[in-house]
Order: sequence, then structure tokens, then C-alpha cells
Amino acid sequence: MIYLDYNASTPVDPRVTAAVFEASSQFANPSSVQHSSGQGAAEVVEEARSRVARLVGRPPRDIVLTSGASEAAAIGIIGAALGGTNRPNIVVAATEHKAILSAASVAAKLTGGQVRHARVERSGIVDLAHLADVVDDTVSVVAVMGANNETGVLGPLTAASVVARRHGALLFADITQLAGKGEMSHVVRCADLLVCSSHKIYGPKGAGALVASRHVQHALVPIFPGGGQEFGLRGGTQNTAALAGFGVAAQLAEKEQANDARRLNDLMATLISGLRLRLDQVEINGYEAERLSNTLNVRFRSADSEAVMASMPRVAVSSGSACQSAMPTQSHVLIAMGLTDREASESIRISLGRPTTREEITDAIEEIASAVTRVRELTRQSEG
Ligand code: PLP
Repeated sequence: MIYLDYNASTPVDPRVTAAVFEASSQFANPSSVQHSSGQGAAEVVEEARSRVARLVGRPPRDIVLTSGASEAAAIGIIGAALGGTNRPNIVVAATEHKAILSAASVAAKLTGGQVRHARVERSGIVDLAHLADVVDDTVSVVAVMGANNETGVLGPLTAASVVARRHGALLFADITQLAGKGEMSHVVRCADLLVCSSHKIYGPKGAGALVASRHVQHALVPIFPGGGQEFGLRGGTQNTAALAGFGVAAQLAEKEQANDARRLNDLMATLISGLRLRLDQVEINGYEAERLSNTLNVRFRSADSEAVMASMPRVAVSSGSACQSAMPTQSHVLIAMGLTDREASESIRISLGRPTTREEITDAIEEIASAVTRVRELTRQSEG
């Protein structure tokens, strides 16, 4: 199997597995700080918090540990919406991940407001003029993602923060795909609320974080109060082992991201030129935009993506985000970028990761090119 679906999930790095295994012996409750067993578990959690903090470049007190980015988004967006006085509305970029769109939709139901969608251009970049139109003083949160999971297109966070600030709204940035892959200090500086996830950076599933200053945390209504853990914002006993793994994954990401990005950039260039050499009518969605170096969303004209994927069982890619691909719906991201249903249904997401090798790219080019050629041939026959 040539796995090229790293934006959906990444394998756990063996160095992370070792840390998870070791932390599994810390069975005590990290809140039971009256005894040494509990203190040991608490130390593991605090070390993970510090490591995640270093990766995002914020103090540990700003890190609220959660079960993943979806939960962090719900805590951040719904909490901010409920905390905003006379601000019932929420603005989201049309290409946000479903986890953000659904949190915004629940938040608007609770506040009696509306979710307003900011349009994106054909490149996938948020249309800043439209963003400025839909944000006003009734908006509590503006969500613009750091990097899109389907196209890799980067969000204009600096400009979005100017719009949000002008109206006193909080800026929410989903950095689930950006963390560990690219420069993100400007995003972290601009945004009031950020979310990230362990299983996208070679950590275990079931761990993630909401990043917010103490001041912003105080503005959130806790929707998950539990026993008051995680500064009162995410109650419930912390998953010590998963968080330990998240911490080590964050530490490795911090150390290796520059090298990973350089290598993946190179492999991506090889992949694109190889596909273009073997096939005609190859169109990159979001081509003219700044993108993550590991992500390619590509349309092969006259080749249905489901048929292409079925025709190359050795290659794992996807036709949309992982959540969506379980359902036979079009990618809302590509549709928001102005692709027709047909154009979207001929598009595939290929995402590379730390373990990707040059040999895999060479083989993938062959497999993809053969599959597309076969599907085009069959399509021509059935249409003719
Ligand atoms: N945001 C983005 C951009 C994602 O790619 C994902 C995962 O697919 C999520 C949020 C949700 O993350 P998690 O699986 O940690 O809830």
C-alpha cells in the first residue's frame, strides 16, 4: 500500500508510541495531586502541555488539552458565541472543516443568530472584501483556517484579524493541518482561538488542544465544565497516555518540521511534474494560492475520482476530507471554490507525510497515471 492520505491521519511515530507506552503505567488520576501517583500523572500532563505550547509558541497556560480538534473547536466557538453579549452571529469561511461549520451551526442555534459564510475565490483564498461585508458588531467569532485540509490553501489570517478586530469579534484559526508543516507564528500571533490535533502530527488519536490566552479563556462560557479540569473549559479526567504521546509528537514536529517541509516540497514537485508528464488535462485546485507543501488537490478531466481510486487499490488517497468521504457528497470546499459538481467529482486529494519516500512517489505516479488512463478510456467507450 502506498499511503498518501496523511491529511486524514498520520501513523504514530515510533518515538511517540514509546512515550504512550511509558505513560500508560501512570494510571492515577492527574487531578489526585494529594499523593505521589497522582502527581506523577499530573507531571506527564503538564509536560505534554509545555511541549504543545512550544510547538505553537504560546505559554503553557494558554493550552487547553482536549480529545482533538473537533472538541477544541466546539469549546472555543460555542463558548465564545455564548459568551458574546449582543453578538448572536458567527462568521465562517465557506471552506472550513465540518468540525468548525457544525460547531458554528450549533452555536448559532443556541444564540438565536446566524452563521454567515465568507466566500472564497477560485484559488480557495478567502475573499477579503466579502469577509469585511459579513463581519459586523453582531458577530462574536470569525473563523478562518490556517490551512485547508483538502487543498492545503493557507488562510489570510493577518488580514482577517484586522477585520475581526475592527468589530470586536474573536478570530478563530484552525491550525490542525498547519501545525508541524509550516511557518505559523503570524497565525498564532493574530488569532484569539486556535485548535490543533495530535493524530495529524504523528501522535495518537484522542488528543488535541484549544489555544487561547487566559483573558480569552475567561470570555468563553464553558460548555464542558465537568470537574473543572483544563482551566474549567474541558472537564473530565485527562487521557494521560494520549496526551503524553501528543506532547512528544509536538516536540518532534517542532524539531523536524523545517526538514519535513523541505523534503515534502521536493517530493511534491516530483509528483506534479510526473503526473503532468504522463497525463494531459491535469488541473491543480488552488494552484495559484499559497499552499502546504504536502497537499495536492488535483482534477483529472474526464476521470471520475471514485472510479480512479477503485482502479488503484494499492494507492490510498481521498476524494474529500475523511469525514466527508464516508458520505457520498461533493466536497463543500471545492464547490465553495466555484468548481462544478462534475469538476469536483473528478478531483482527488493526495497528501504526503514524513514517511513518504521517493520510491513511493515514483510508484504512485505510475499507478495514478495508469488508473486515470483506464478510467478515461472506459468513460470514452461508454459515452461513445
Ligand atoms: N480541522 C481540520 C482542518 C481537520 O483536518 C480535522 C481532521 O480531519 C479536524 C479539524 C478535526 O480533528 P480531530 O479529528 O482531531 O477532531
